[in-house]
Amino acid sequence: MKYAEVAVNSPVSRSAFTYAIPARLSVHVGQAVWVPFGSRILQGIVVELSDQPSVEATKEIADLVTDTPVLSSRQTELARWISERYLSPPFDALALMLPPGFERQAIAYIQLADSQMDLSSLTPEQRQVLHIIRAKKKASLPELEKAIGRRKAGQVIDQLLDHRLVTKTLELERVKIKPKTVPYVKLVAPTGRKEGVEAEKARLHKRRAYKQAQLLEFLTEQTQPVSVNELGKRFTHASAAVKALESRNLVTVERVRVRRDPLSHLSVPPSPAPLLTPSQQAACESIHNVIVREGSQCGRAPVFLLFGVTGSGKTEVYLRALTQIISAGKRGICLVPEIALTGQTVERFSSRFPGRVAVLHSGLSAGEQFDEWQWIKEGNCDVVIGPRSALFAPLTDLGLIIIDEEHEWTYKQEDKSPRYHARDVAIKLAQLSGAAVILGSATPDIHSFHKAQQGEYHLVELKERITPRGYSPLPEVSIVDLREELKAGNTGSLSRSLLAAIKEALTQGEQAILFLNRRGTATFVRCRSCGFVFRCPRCSIALTHHSAQKRLICHRCRYSVPVTQSCPQCFRHHLRFLGVGTQRVEEEVSHFFPEARLLRWDRDVITRRYAHEELLNDFRNHKADVLIGTQMVAKGLDLPQVTLAGIISADTGLNFPDFRSGEHTFQLLCQVAGRAGRGIKAGKVIIQTYSPDNYTVQAAARHDYLGFYEKEVDYRRRYNYPPFSRLIRLVYSHIHDELCRREAERVHRLILDERARDDMIDFDVIGPVPAFAFRARGRYRWQLFLRSPAPARILSRVTLPQGWNIDVDPVGTV
Ligand code: ADP
Ligand code: ZN
Repeated sequence: MKYAEVAVNSPVSRSAFTYAIPARLSVHVGQAVWVPFGSRILQGIVVELSDQPSVEATKEIADLVTDTPVLSSRQTELARWISERYLSPPFDALALMLPPGFERQAIAYIQLADSQMDLSSLTPEQRQVLHIIRAKKKASLPELEKAIGRRKAGQVIDQLLDHRLVTKTLELERVKIKPKTVPYVKLVAPTGRKEGVEAEKARLHKRRAYKQAQLLEFLTEQTQPVSVNELGKRFTHASAAVKALESRNLVTVERVRVRRDPLSHLSVPPSPAPLLTPSQQAACESIHNVIVREGSQCGRAPVFLLFGVTGSGKTEVYLRALTQIISAGKRGICLVPEIALTGQTVERFSSRFPGRVAVLHSGLSAGEQFDEWQWIKEGNCDVVIGPRSALFAPLTDLGLIIIDEEHEWTYKQEDKSPRYHARDVAIKLAQLSGAAVILGSATPDIHSFHKAQQGEYHLVELKERITPRGYSPLPEVSIVDLREELKAGNTGSLSRSLLAAIKEALTQGEQAILFLNRRGTATFVRCRSCGFVFRCPRCSIALTHHSAQKRLICHRCRYSVPVTQSCPQCFRHHLRFLGVGTQRVEEEVSHFFPEARLLRWDRDVITRRYAHEELLNDFRNHKADVLIGTQMVAKGLDLPQVTLAGIISADTGLNFPDFRSGEHTFQLLCQVAGRAGRGIKAGKVIIQTYSPDNYTVQAAARHDYLGFYEKEVDYRRRYNYPPFSRLIRLVYSHIHDELCRREAERVHRLILDERARDDMIDFDVIGPVPAFAFRARGRYRWQLFLRSPAPARILSRVTLPQGWNIDVDPVGTV
């Protein structure tokens, strides 16, 4: 093999590049290497080897980063799949699997060379650069770029190199994360014998070195080396005494690697498995039977959709399935939708598998991430828990991947490339490893349920809720019509029934959760008298308020109307720009119930590490009566003392200009409702809405997933939305609105031309339209949607310049 395809760590590298392998290096797939790229040296990962170069002129690989491959062949294969499916640069996909802190840069340093050249012929810039280098003895390329500009620096340095006035060397950026080591003290061998120690002690006493004598005595009594830290706890001035003993050659001090354990603050007593309920038993058996029948074959991956109502004991089914695969010598991964929820899951899993659980997420310190990663790689744990990125833990013998609350949108990486969906990657990884996948939810993603209906996934159901009262019904839900509240003169955000229910819960010493869907704050306009919402006559999605233009704009087709004063339906002046914040609700609750203890949970209050866990623990331990929160409170919390769940407004989500707004709202409503009544007492749910007849609200109030699914699937089929088609979202961002729009229109035309050339039927291009977050961080964003059974095909023939983001299978269209 003389050539290597290398995925290079550079934003401009959209595909792998061919490099020649110098004879002195032995290069393998999955290995990290240094390669010249433009004027720089960058890290890259070898993804393929070949005898023939795929291009004529190739550069040589400069060096190896590590002697052995950092990635396994399975990992490189998974990365290739991710980069092909999500149209992302290959390095981005590979980087998901690299050890924490692995990515480093090589920095070029410029030094003066021994030269007798006459400097008078140099340009002022060349002299300036030489001057800087002389002053610093050696200057880094970034320093010089900063001094005279990036372009200029490159040119001038090349000229000086040509004149042999300077030399260039490469140095690696400092290692960001290192293993943590602590010093341990060990007796030097001969003094380990009793008489030797006695003689040494006597000598020390003679010199009045009593402390050293004491330490020496203590060390002879130990069977294992003792850490300096430990000695410090027992003896004053221990480290000075250790140093003295060391200089007398009586002890040696060695640094020993220790693990920074992110779970060390947890103390969970091991707990035995409870007796399964009959439905759990049946679920476990059917999962087990399929795994035995189909599993453990590479290329196959049985996928289970565990459809169980809230509180039906899905976690116990996960734990049993894990126990089984662990006893077969395999390991598992359990994904949770939010870092904030790892705590609850880690506790439950640790008490079943004490000491065998690892956790991986970005909330850990860099050192903890590094150690956890190593700990997993060395095969010390059976289960890894974490958000979507935990999928890339270096686990061997993978037997099972669990995705809890599989409908959650957080499983899609949206903010950066690769824009992957953890569910789809999990299924691919399972296929490559011969593992099984369990997707669990009370409100499955429409796509997942559709696959289960088609027979692609095995549907496993848990229909009853388990509480300390035994099987019990889901909480009773009532719908409050907010138009009636207004008629009765109540302009606050809490209806009379909700106020009464809060009062009742407080009097009984129970807890309440109030949920607010903040997505879409102040974006759509609604009449508070008749409930009218401005919608696009063509697309029927809600119009979005653009205050700069004073217009309401359709984010699908760009239809727009000016903002008016009165409602076009009832002509009254009760138009409201929607947006009630958690803070407002908190103020209102404390106004009505000054004695109630309130907790607000949203991104504004959660700033510190562990803050989520502390807040949740406070609430669980009943240090507060009412929890007011956004999305977070809708995600799988098990809080037995909560008897009331109130939804401040079901409409925020419903009127969101997205084809999935119905699905999303249904899921949120059911999940929030699912928080109430999980303990000894029955629960109650109140949904406040201006659209009491909406089928989403109605179905949620009946806990009727199937009813909702049927309606939703009809709608998707009729309008050709996923799962009946696939979408690709193309977003272009630029600081100038006009340029941004024009570029979006240019690409739109290119795509239309391609479509015409190929005579593609079944291929829609939607847009260009402004993105929902139209102006984000000072940049305007315009977007296009491609919709077809295979929309990626057209993009292989259209080149998108820098600035375009590609999102394959976006979770939403706003
Ligand atoms: P889900 O994840 O389906 O919402 P959980 O797994 O949180 O449900 O279970 C709900 C409650 O029922 C938890 O408090 C759990 O401890 C309890 N539970 C689950 N299975 C059993 C069982 N077999 N016996 C007794 N309690 C159970
Ligand atoms: Zn429209």
